[in-house]
Amino acid sequence: MVEKISVAEARKPESIGRQVILQGWVRTRRDSKAGFSFLELNDGSSLGNIQVIAGQDLDNYQTEIKRLTAGSSVTVRGEVRQSPGRGQATEVHATSITVHGWADSERYPLQKKRHSFEFLRTIAHLRPRTNTFGAVARVRNCVCHSIHQFFQEEGFLYVHTPIITASDCEGAGEMFQVTTLDLGKLAQTGSPPDFSLDFFDRPSYLTVSGQLEAEAFACALGKVYTFGPTFRAENSNTSRHLAEFWMVEPEMAFFELDQNMDLAERLLKRIFQDVLARCGEDMKFFNQRIDPTALETLEQIVASRFVRLSYTEAMDLLGRCGERFEFPTRWGCDLQAEHERYLTEKHFRCPVILFDYPRSIKPFYMRLNDDGRTVRAMDVLVPKVGEIIGGSQREERLEVLEERMREQGLNPDDYWWYLDLRRYGTVPHSGFGLGLERLVQFITGMGNIRDVIPFPRTPGNAEF
Ligand code: ATP
Ligand code: MN
Repeated sequence: MVEKISVAEARKPESIGRQVILQGWVRTRRDSKAGFSFLELNDGSSLGNIQVIAGQDLDNYQTEIKRLTAGSSVTVRGEVRQSPGRGQATEVHATSITVHGWADSERYPLQKKRHSFEFLRTIAHLRPRTNTFGAVARVRNCVCHSIHQFFQEEGFLYVHTPIITASDCEGAGEMFQVTTLDLGKLAQTGSPPDFSLDFFDRPSYLTVSGQLEAEAFACALGKVYTFGPTFRAENSNTSRHLAEFWMVEPEMAFFELDQNMDLAERLLKRIFQDVLARCGEDMKFFNQRIDPTALETLEQIVASRFVRLSYTEAMDLLGRCGERFEFPTRWGCDLQAEHERYLTEKHFRCPVILFDYPRSIKPFYMRLNDDGRTVRAMDVLVPKVGEIIGGSQREERLEVLEERMREQGLNPDDYWWYLDLRRYGTVPHSGFGLGLERLVQFITGMGNIRDVIPFPRTPGNAEF
């Protein structure tokens, strides 16, 4: 029997003796003087290739096989045998090879030499064919699978919150507007746009977060999560910001901040454990090529407890630590990246959950503490990447929430439906947002967030 199997499958010693069909792309070809060739074949199922041995008995050996170059696509039929070579358990002895597509070696950009990540961003449609981007794609897939598994096992309901919205969750702007108004025509007439004529009869935007809508579902169904694309028009060209990114947002009725922190810690550890167990080969690659501490960091975190520290305690610590920061710390100001790095990389050397931030630097929906100065916010900070999760216990008291909106220049009337959740059967509840790309960045050690999403959207960048 001949079976179509993946390269990953064919690489396992259990496959020895099987008659198989493999389909993929040639990474390299080497010819031996003895009249046969070695092809390294990859189909994306694993980082490692399989070695295919093609002899001159193949009818297209001279005409085609000896012309195969990196990037060509083939179907190989043959038998999996034990490999005498080092570093691989198996190899495939081909009985036939069909060439589907050639890749002109004069022009195909992915030749043997290693390319910079900057260059690979200019060929984002081809970079999935490289070792690094294949490994990132597999780890990212594993992380998503693990996220869904975790929440499903914990009894969460997966809800889909809208991508187009008329409410601004952060109350901070930086949103992409969605419109069908004719901008060219508007510019010619010079008159201000009349949004009552727009598609949704009002200004509308791409969502910056599904939280507000998730709250509506949590306040009926208990524990829910949304997991989808999120958009921020922040014009920041950093290695940690994208204009389009994916966010996991659990929202739980009857959860207070401590339970929220427990959930975040359990979720992250579960993901790290799954990646270590399921992506061993890819993680070893990241450890060798990208970040020599990648594996050790994850293993250590899975076994440790996250440090929990109030914002005020963190400010005291940073003020007294004797480190020279570019931005001095002051109570009431947000932490800078250098402060986050000091806490996670130098002082505690592990993830840190900061909580109870000043009310003035956090959004209106975070629950006000009895001290009147701080809110029940929590940020999870990790080494290298900094903030990976932002969350809070939500303000469930109607009057306090309205007051906080006004304080931040928002009109409570615009949020009438959100306030209804407090008018009818309000409950303490909590949630957070975990940025998928920051998480994959942290796990893999990849330095730039643009290299952990298939087609990054950043200022000036949306060609592919
Ligand atoms: P930062 O201060 O790092 O810009 P934020 O406080 O604006 O982030 P939140 O609104 O708390 O971010 O969003 C929740 C999570 O979403 C963050 O902890 C982060 O993991 C992720 N995130 C936020 N903005 C971006 C972005 N522009 N690109 C990628 N991930 C992001
Ligand atoms: Mn945040």
